This record gives sequence, C-alpha cells and structure tokens, in this order.
Amino acid sequence: MSCGTGSRPGASPRVRARPKFLEILPPPPQALPAFTQDITPPDLSPWLTDHCGIPGVVHHEAPRPGPHVVLTALVHGNEFAGAIVLDRLLRERVRPTRGRLSLIFANPEAFARFTPTNPVASRFVEEDMNRVWSRQILSSPRRSVELDRARAILPVIETADILMDLHSMLWPGAPLILAGATESGRRLATMIGNPPLVVSDHGHKAGPRLIDYDRFSDPSGPYAACLLEAGAHWSADTVQTTDSAVRALLRHSGLLPVEPAPPAAASRQLMVTDIVTAETPGFRFVRPFQGGEIIRRRGTLLAQDGPDEIRTPYPDCMLVMPNLRPGRGQTAVRLARTLPTPP
Ligand SMILES: [Zn+2]
Repeated sequence: MSCGTGSRPGASPRVRARPKFLEILPPPPQALPAFTQDITPPDLSPWLTDHCGIPGVVHHEAPRPGPHVVLTALVHGNEFAGAIVLDRLLRERVRPTRGRLSLIFANPEAFARFTPTNPVASRFVEEDMNRVWSRQILSSPRRSVELDRARAILPVIETADILMDLHSMLWPGAPLILAGATESGRRLATMIGNPPLVVSDHGHKAGPRLIDYDRFSDPSGPYAACLLEAGAHWSADTVQTTDSAVRALLRHSGLLPVEPAPPAAASRQLMVTDIVTAETPGFRFVRPFQGGEIIRRRGTLLAQDGPDEIRTPYPDCMLVMPNLRPGRGQTAVRLARTLPTPP
C-alpha cells in the first residue's frame, strides 16, 4: 500500500497494470548478496560498564551552561560505524566547552551478537528498537530486550535539547540526514550541513523512531532531533561521514570551538511524499536503484508488485533508501520531491 501525503491529488505511484501490458519480471532471488565489510566492530567494553548510572551511557558536562546534546549509536545493533565514532570521541577525551554531552550505545545486546558471516541478523534481538519511541508504547506493560533498554536510556532522552541518532544503510545510497516531520528537525539537519542532503518525512507505519519521540515531534517545542544515514553499514567512508557530521553538530551547537572552515555546500531539502510498501512477496525493482537517485520523468516504471506497477508520480522524484529485497509489508522505497530553497 502506498500512502500519499498530498504531492498532487490522485497521483499515486501504484497503478494496476492492464493485463495486456503486464510483463511479469522473474521472481527476486531469495538470498541477500554478500555485502562488503571493511570495518570491524569496536571494543566498547570500557563504555558498557556503569559510568553515570546507566551502562553504555557516558556524560560529560562543561562548567559553562549550554545545550544538552545527545548522540546515539547502535539503535540498530549491526550499524556500528556510529559506535566507532563515539568510541573515538571517548578515547580522544573530547569534552564539551559548554553544555552537556551524552553518548549512548543504545542496543549493546544486539551489537554483541554481530557476526561477519551473517551481518544483517544483529539489527535487533527481539524487535526493531527504532519503532518503539512514544510515551504510550514505553509506558505500556509490554516487555522486550529493546523496550527494556529504551526505558533504561529514556531519562537521558527526556533531557536532550538536541539529539542526533547515528545510522547507516544496507543498500548503496547517498548519505543523508532524515529530519522527521518538524521544522526544528529540518533546521538542525540543515545546520549540520554534512551530508548536504536533508530529507523530511513522517516516519514508518510500523512505529515511531527515536527522532519521532514526543519530546522532539512537538512542533511548538524547542527540542530538535535528526537521524544520520551515513552510507553503507560496513564501509570506512561511512565512519568518516559520521565523524564529520558529529563534529559539525558539536561545533554548531557550541559544545566544541568553531574552526575556520570553507563554507559548506548548501543543503538540498526534500520531502517524502509517498511510502511504497511491498504488498506481494514478488515485489521487484526493474533495476537496482541507488538511494538518492533522481528520476527525471514522471511515470517512469520503478518496480512491479504482483499485478501493480510502481511509477514515479511526478518529475524529478528522488528515491530514498530503496530496499532491494523488501519482504511483504515492508517499506520498499520512499519517494521525495525537492522543496524550494529557503531564502
Ligand atoms: Zn538503522
């Protein structure tokens, strides 16, 4: 099912193909390809003990007042590029010159299960930790490894002024910052400026992400959160992109001194208009699209899903993180259009 959010009335990416034109693509291969792995999991043992009352959470506070900046890594246990960068900040003894800095290793239990021979299996232990972030879910009696851990780190999240959640991507694609649905998230992502691709969206139907948590999604609230998708999960470039984005955030929020640097390229801002969900097990892209690709022509065939064709609903449509092997009910791709550049 696709949920249009008003790109143009009646313009849906999903169209039922007329039988005469329906060309059934071969079924997708079952096995995932072997993904390149040029980084290895960091040794986080010094930080997973109890430093500040919560294992896997390290705070540093400056004498001068300033914002509370929270960086989270390992919300998905197998995405450890962010953990490498937080580990680096801790080993380099980076301290805020004002305000408070909290570094969180969010799901160490899933991370501990990482194995290079099946690197996708340790995304979570029992459920996706990035679909549980609402006060309603977190205050429910339901329990899981991820819910228990989310509740354990919640006191830190509840005092964050600025939060960046560090992720990476399974399938190839341009690095980007997801800004959620708020203006504050978009401003924060634009201020970081690196990577310069800022995508506003309304999250997933399966549940709210950390950046969608009530504290950050209140449009009138002063708090801001964004999610970095820094590149392929196990690529050295992803660590570099994460490192640059984290240090840019710390400089712009005043926690680290501003360094003279050439002006960053202007961010490109996009808004997700449609979420295309695979409705059949035979969902198949017509070619292996890359995240960040812009499809110039409206009506371009992207995929077949059983009897349906998925086509671009407008010109210059950007594909956000296509999932080249979506299971039935999973997000296959998000479609985004460019927003006018703010003055
Ligand atoms: Zn992730």
